Amino acid sequence: MTTIIPLLGDQLSLDLASLRGAEPTDAVVLMVEVREETGYVRHHKKKIALIFSAMRHFAETLRGAGWTVDYVTLDDPANRQGFTGEVVRAVERHRADRVRVVEGAEYRVRRMQDGWAAAAGVPVEILADDRFLCPIDDFLAWAKGRRDFRMEYFYRDMRRRTGLLMTADGKPEGGQWNFDHDNREVPPRGLNYPLPERFEPDPITRDVLALVAAEFGDHFGDLEPFALPVTRDQALRALDHFVATALPDFGRYEDAMIAGQEYLYHSVLSSSINLGLLAPLEVAQAVERAYARGDVPINSAEGFVRQVIGWREYMRGMYWRDMPGFESRNALDATRPLPDFYWTGETDIRCLAESVGQTKREAYAHHIQRLMVLGNFALIAGVDPRAISDWFLVVYFDAYEWVEMPNVIGMSQFADGGAIASKPYASTGAYINRMSDYCGRCRYDVKKRAGPDACPFNALFWDFVGRNEDRLRGNGRMRNMYATWDRFSDAARAEIREEAAAFLDSLTPAADGWARQTGGSPVR
Ligand SMILES: Cc1cc2nc3c(=O)[nH]c(=O)nc-3n(C[C@H](O)[C@H](O)[C@H](O)COP(=O)(O)OP(=O)(O)OC[C@H]3O[C@@H](n4cnc5c(N)ncnc54)[C@H](O)[C@@H]3O)c2cc1C
Ligand code: SF4
Repeated sequence: MTTIIPLLGDQLSLDLASLRGAEPTDAVVLMVEVREETGYVRHHKKKIALIFSAMRHFAETLRGAGWTVDYVTLDDPANRQGFTGEVVRAVERHRADRVRVVEGAEYRVRRMQDGWAAAAGVPVEILADDRFLCPIDDFLAWAKGRRDFRMEYFYRDMRRRTGLLMTADGKPEGGQWNFDHDNREVPPRGLNYPLPERFEPDPITRDVLALVAAEFGDHFGDLEPFALPVTRDQALRALDHFVATALPDFGRYEDAMIAGQEYLYHSVLSSSINLGLLAPLEVAQAVERAYARGDVPINSAEGFVRQVIGWREYMRGMYWRDMPGFESRNALDATRPLPDFYWTGETDIRCLAESVGQTKREAYAHHIQRLMVLGNFALIAGVDPRAISDWFLVVYFDAYEWVEMPNVIGMSQFADGGAIASKPYASTGAYINRMSDYCGRCRYDVKKRAGPDACPFNALFWDFVGRNEDRLRGNGRMRNMYATWDRFSDAARAEIREEAAAFLDSLTPAADGWARQTGGSPVR
């Protein structure tokens, strides 16, 4: 009896359900680099390098643990360049009589797995991915029949379920569930901001960097310098380093943005967690231990744990609840093409230039840059949700559809009609000014709503409020916005509309081919 255990690029965990209970002597672990995955969108170069390098390192770890690994590289001439073709080929090559695999995290891959039994002619056992803390069925049961899907209610259940930051008598540590109101500060300038741990490329990573430069040199983003964690040991070091250096101030500064400071007090652990190098529970437990030792305040510990066991699990649940069809939700009927500066970074809008620039260099931007600069602009400019979703899927090193899509289509673009976000994350420049130092050296004046030097976020925001009145006025959390809108004179509203229209007309739409390969040659 030989079992093929296909292991996908984001399943790099030794305690994966498909490995547990299998015997290394009777099984072959199959790992494949395929163009189907590098090409369904034209990922940032760093993201491809990260995934391939982490896969190649993990293959070595598996071999060290006694597994037989059949690793098919991208340039192997026999490679059929798709998961199904490679599973079929492996079954034939190893004369295997069954396949055992953990479910793909993305709908696209999960549907492919359904076809493997027929294609390979052997039984295929598809196991639940129990690295997530909330099984999909449990989430669907939680969501069933609800009219209100607020993350906060789900999060409290997850705290109870995991026992994280709970007292012995079942109460939340610190006396409340959520300390967000303490988490809205901007750090003073000139602080010695912590930096995430960086890792020098070893020979395996250098080989991958050469491959990516040769094969994907025309994709978006900078390949080097490359310093991301690619092994579990490195990811554990990055976790320890974060807990010791940045976690204490994570809470109060988590919404802040400082020009030139890409990471501030964020963990930069999303890629390691999403690849499987770190388990979400062990990350949250490390934070809980730091709190128990008295090393970090409750607002930081709680704020961080909420992201990992709350938002991350909730987004995955909402993705599966709404798939298929999530990708084409467009509750606000937004149709504008994506402006080209999302790809080039060439704009005099400083907050956007900073955020796109670091995305291009690092394949990383933190949550508030994604939500309140890059997402906010697309939302108030009326960009097609699918176009901005494609952009987010391409450019971040942690982007997989199951987590990117609900964050973009749901949370950031309100295109699901408000299932995920209770109100649109739309704002004028005032929010960006309050939470960042971007506006100080911007050519636009954040206080102005009209005129050649007016901050574009201001007219665009009010234009968004006005043009979506039918859809949003009934939203209780928009009441203050519409109260202000109602106080504007007709002349002020006309000025807003003209200002917004002139600005939007001045934008150059992105050329085809950046995110998805089109008929012609790739753009870059
Ligand atoms: C428009 C938009 C798009 C996003 N796209 C992605 C994506 O493609 N992949 C992705 O992993 N995250 C995405 N996020 C969520 C979040 O921005 C990133 O997880 C975070 O910025 C990663 O950086 P970090 O590890 O430094 O996070 P930290 O700020 O240190 O947070 C700790 C951890 O919490 C988890 N987390 C925090 N917020 C979320 C969230 N909203 N959803 C899921 N997990 C969360 C991540 O695992 C993260 O590593 C997106 C958010 C927005 C608003
Ligand atoms: S003034 Fe407006 S455009 Fe300039 S950085 Fe501030 S918010 Fe962005």
